[in-house]
Amino acid sequence: MSDVARSTIAFEGFFARDFPELAIPWRAEEAADPQLLALNQPLAVELGFDPHFLRSPEGIRLLIGNALPEEATPVAQAYSGHQFGWYSPRLGDGRALLLGEVAGDDGKLRDIHLKGSGRTPFARNGDGLAAVGPMLREYIVSESMHALNIPTTRSLAVVGTGRQVQRETLLPGAVLTRVASSHLRVGSFQYARATNDVDLLRRLADHAIERHHPSSAGESNPYLGLLKSVISVQAKLVAQWMLVGFVHGVMNTDNMTVSGETIDYGPCAFMDGFDPGAVYSSIDEQGRYAYRNQPLVAEWNLARFAESLASLIHEDEEQAVALAVEALNAYRQQYSATWFSGMQAKLGLPEGIDDGVASPLVDDLLELVQESRADYTSFFRSLGKAARGQVEPARGMILDLAAFDAWLERWHALAPDADAMDRVNPIYIPRNHLMEEALSAATEGDTGPAERLLAAVSDPFSERPGLEKYAEPAPESFGPYRTFCGT
Ligand code: AMP
Ligand code: MG
Repeated sequence: MSDVARSTIAFEGFFARDFPELAIPWRAEEAADPQLLALNQPLAVELGFDPHFLRSPEGIRLLIGNALPEEATPVAQAYSGHQFGWYSPRLGDGRALLLGEVAGDDGKLRDIHLKGSGRTPFARNGDGLAAVGPMLREYIVSESMHALNIPTTRSLAVVGTGRQVQRETLLPGAVLTRVASSHLRVGSFQYARATNDVDLLRRLADHAIERHHPSSAGESNPYLGLLKSVISVQAKLVAQWMLVGFVHGVMNTDNMTVSGETIDYGPCAFMDGFDPGAVYSSIDEQGRYAYRNQPLVAEWNLARFAESLASLIHEDEEQAVALAVEALNAYRQQYSATWFSGMQAKLGLPEGIDDGVASPLVDDLLELVQESRADYTSFFRSLGKAARGQVEPARGMILDLAAFDAWLERWHALAPDADAMDRVNPIYIPRNHLMEEALSAATEGDTGPAERLLAAVSDPFSERPGLEKYAEPAPESFGPYRTFCGT
């Protein structure tokens, strides 16, 4: 235990203090019988918290907001959002609370936030609660994303509340303790804009600049700089999702951060067989948030962000629009550049290779993988073996062998770097069938499978003996996968 370990958590209340218009002071519901189901010890240590304390009865109550230091000022945050394209002026934390910010050893502020902590004034018809399964899902997927080097909110703990939650059946309830570089969302800016309080909007933008995009402060138009920075981090983020086959599932504007971190793991999934139309959310009937649509949806959401900032960007509306459109025009190029260089890395190609060579190589491969519905993760991982001369595992997943053999010849000629490939093509991801198995067991009281899945995906690039089942595609019997928003 380091001497900075704290036996309580000193929460700052910056957001609560500086944005009373966007923050309703609120308390977490008292848990009947709190039980620690998961604690992220490395993250606790990174934040300077004492894991021994967090495992104690008082620590567990602190983790769910039931035993806060006196000076803490927990709040429910207000935000708006476009949900499946439809604008909801007042969403907000219906079942969540910001406990406050903590300053890490790196000096950076992080939000400590609860999900499933009871009804708030934003709850509408919701019960304010969360079930063990979905909270463990967020825990495991967010930690997997972190290990894959993709910006994301983190998960500090899942605590069972001892209270039953009514979903399709009665389920055990839980609270997730989430850590984020902030919870500023596109929807936060939509909300501030809709109040017509320009001062509030400006303060919120200044806060976002200071906290996430400080380089924008020095630009001649800092708010245009903020827009450009958010466009840039989101373009990179979504490209990274695409490269690992991640489908977020509910890319509403309230689920898109200004920091560029992935947030709100609801009906999300990693693709099994490569299918650009993959949709996993049971409520996404039109496929709005299908795998292939994610880059376009992000661009659409960023346009909503630009609209929210317009009055700060220029007092003249026409000029504001012109500047915002110009900034938005950079999105596609930034997205494509990140995606393309990521694909080159997945293929082990040297940097600086001619686009005219690399680009058709990538396109032709994806066509073969798609037509074969090859397991996306396994295929790219086995391509590393193919780079070492062991082509059969990859070949076994492709239908058109003549075309693939011709492709392999073109690719081998470029001397792909197998070790570099293994550093970017994961072997262990939270596969849907394993996730379901783990969450069902946890719902029945056995967190063992979830712990083992977490251990596998927390170190996704290095193959370890004994973990074969975590590397294998779903069995045929698993069928089409659906996840539910009734989280
Ligand atoms: P999400 O789709 O999870 O991002 O949530 C969208 C909105 O619904 C947010 O305002 C949430 O706070 C709210 N919400 C989701 N589930 C519940 C619930 N069980 N009780 C109250 N509010 C909820
Ligand atoms: Mg949300």
